[in-house]
Amino acid sequence: MRRVTLASPVADVAGGRTAKALREGLGIETVDDLLRHYPRRYIDPGDLTDLDALATGEHVTVLAEVMSATNRRMQQRKGTITEVVVSDGRGRLTLVFFNQAWRTQRQLQVGRRGLFAGTVSAYGGTRQLAHPRFVMLPDSSDLEPDSEAQAAFADLLIPIYPATAGLPSWKIQQTMRLALDAVEDIVDPLPASVITDEAFLSLDQALRQIHRPTDQDAIEAARTRLRFDEAFGLQVVLAQRRALLEGQSALPRPPRSDGLLATFDAQRPFVLTGAQERVGAEIAEDLGSDHPMHRLLQGDVGAGKTLVALRAMLQVVDAGGQAALLAPTEVLAQQHLRTLRTFLGPMAESGLLAGSGPSTRIAFLSGSQGARQRREQLLAVASGEAGIVVGTHALLEDTVTFAELGMVVVDEQHRFGVEQRAVLGAADRDGQRPHVLVMTATPIPRTVAMTVFGDLEVSVLDEYPPGRGVIATHVVAPREQPAHLARAWARVREEVEAGRKVFVVCPRIGDEADDGSDSAEGPVMSSVLDVADELRERWLTGLRIGILHGRMTADEKDDAMRRFTADSETADAIDVLVATTVIEVGVDVPDASTMVILDADRFGISQLHQLRGRIARGGGDGLCLLVTAADADSPARERLAAVAATTDGFELARVDLQARREGDVLGTAQSGSRSSLRLLEVVRDEAVVERARVAATTLVAEDPQLELHPALREHVSAISDDDRSDYLEKG
Ligand code: ADP
Ligand code: MG
Repeated sequence: MRRVTLASPVADVAGGRTAKALREGLGIETVDDLLRHYPRRYIDPGDLTDLDALATGEHVTVLAEVMSATNRRMQQRKGTITEVVVSDGRGRLTLVFFNQAWRTQRQLQVGRRGLFAGTVSAYGGTRQLAHPRFVMLPDSSDLEPDSEAQAAFADLLIPIYPATAGLPSWKIQQTMRLALDAVEDIVDPLPASVITDEAFLSLDQALRQIHRPTDQDAIEAARTRLRFDEAFGLQVVLAQRRALLEGQSALPRPPRSDGLLATFDAQRPFVLTGAQERVGAEIAEDLGSDHPMHRLLQGDVGAGKTLVALRAMLQVVDAGGQAALLAPTEVLAQQHLRTLRTFLGPMAESGLLAGSGPSTRIAFLSGSQGARQRREQLLAVASGEAGIVVGTHALLEDTVTFAELGMVVVDEQHRFGVEQRAVLGAADRDGQRPHVLVMTATPIPRTVAMTVFGDLEVSVLDEYPPGRGVIATHVVAPREQPAHLARAWARVREEVEAGRKVFVVCPRIGDEADDGSDSAEGPVMSSVLDVADELRERWLTGLRIGILHGRMTADEKDDAMRRFTADSETADAIDVLVATTVIEVGVDVPDASTMVILDADRFGISQLHQLRGRIARGGGDGLCLLVTAADADSPARERLAAVAATTDGFELARVDLQARREGDVLGTAQSGSRSSLRLLEVVRDEAVVERARVAATTLVAEDPQLELHPALREHVSAISDDDRSDYLEKG
């Protein structure tokens, strides 16, 4: 037999069809991939599955006992139906087979136990599995188990794997045994000292125990070791990155007492919050250093990040550098431009006014600019005339040359890849790098920040500016309470009549080509175009209703935002803006008091929280209505209830992350994710992440290139940035 190592293709231990199913269904290519496909849970052959807990539509693997088996002829067609009733001692489940009467004699005898896999359906009030795949446990009367699959159940605990319809759990289990029997040379990537310190199993032992445990303790020991590996791999990558950053240099941009920042501070309309003051000082100090700053500024919606960023930018401009502010969307970039102009007033009109004090210019770059306008702006950037440059991805194109880029501010980091951050953070000709400030309103629990942004220092704006209103959030379920929808629109009308603005958010635009996907998705989702029509014609007649979505031109979007932001008394003002999630981040309309989110169940927790942050920004209180047709006891409704229950972004981030992991754990199949994080739950496993971080930092300090740890080096090089972004992207 050929020598099998972790790097061998999975076809070396599995038949062609199984190998193909592993690859296509679960993304498993190598023996290593296979052995890292851990069981979701384990069944004790003595414990039958609780059949009452099965939900319709779920793909399940159950252990149950055959109670009865009957064959009957079909009435309309030729052939037989075999119905086998299985039980866990209380609940029952019917298995239905067509034209397989022979199975009752040979396999499905009354009193025998088996594993049955299939999708639960309901038929005439009873739950059933149609054409399930199954394997019977060995019978005590069997002299010899009659198949490889049955042999697997000689094990004390039966592992249940994330499976697919074509590849049941026991088939994976069987392949796993073959792999474990064949594989040689499992080199342990963890440094021996760490294994000793932590009293860990070896990797070889851990892999054997997680797939073929003798008891619960064995499973726990294996999981503990493998979970640490995941945290450790990431922390080594991050420790290396930190070490690299420490070796880089930047031009120091210390504050001055007579520049733009000092002038701005002397005339700004409000005092800084304590948090803005503290974080501002941290940043000011970083900027004065000859190492590039890499700081994450984390602050909930409305905490006042923009002001902090502006003050940092002014410090850099005062020191002769340029500052770039990178925004994820056109709408947001435009708004930053407006905000900065408003904040700076004449200070941003260098050359236009013969002003007395220091001044600069703000350049703007976006994908939708005309060629002439773009050339003009590029020139202002290249000449250094513009101290501040605001833009979208267009800032990242290589036609953009800065005279002297001193700092990059990235707003809403999770929308940008790490590579994009790297483009602007690249060194100039003299090897100097700009300082980097990353801002996010997605509140990130500490351990996640350590894992995902472990190469950044973290500042938290944990205080809101005064005058922020209280937002009351309610779930509106018209299917259960039909009158509530009309009440909601009536509330909207009252708000508008009191001079306030209202957002209505829809999951889609409504001009999409009909690709039939709606029918697969169930009920047609609310769309901006349809809803705007319906509001004009039926619910909100007489009110001024505008729309905003991603497929409008930049000018149209800008116009819609301007009219919506305008005072109600203005002739062309808009009262109600029906929009997609383009308004999700950063949009600042002080008069907006109310938000109605339609099909709110379509959005994730953090997204809803972001959306809701658009209202009650002008001093008054706010009202947010989450309209949904989701079932009252569905997980989607639980998410909405969580959003309605608190406005604490950190609390919601926690709920969100936990819910996602829960989904992973309970979800049944089709987990084709190639993330290296399988067992680690960064929220729950804070202590593991901490220990891994300490161990990784120590190791990297001694052996930065991992020359003494080749197996670890290989393991680490396979960890991609994807793992880090995974946590933030699945919103
Ligand atoms: P974020 O970007 O963190 O969501 P913003 O920077 O948009 O928050 O600030 C929210 C609102 O609070 C803005 O209207 C801003 O002008 C205002 N603001 C910021 N800092 C202060 C402060 N110290 N005092 C009063 N208002 C402030
Ligand atoms: Mg903002």
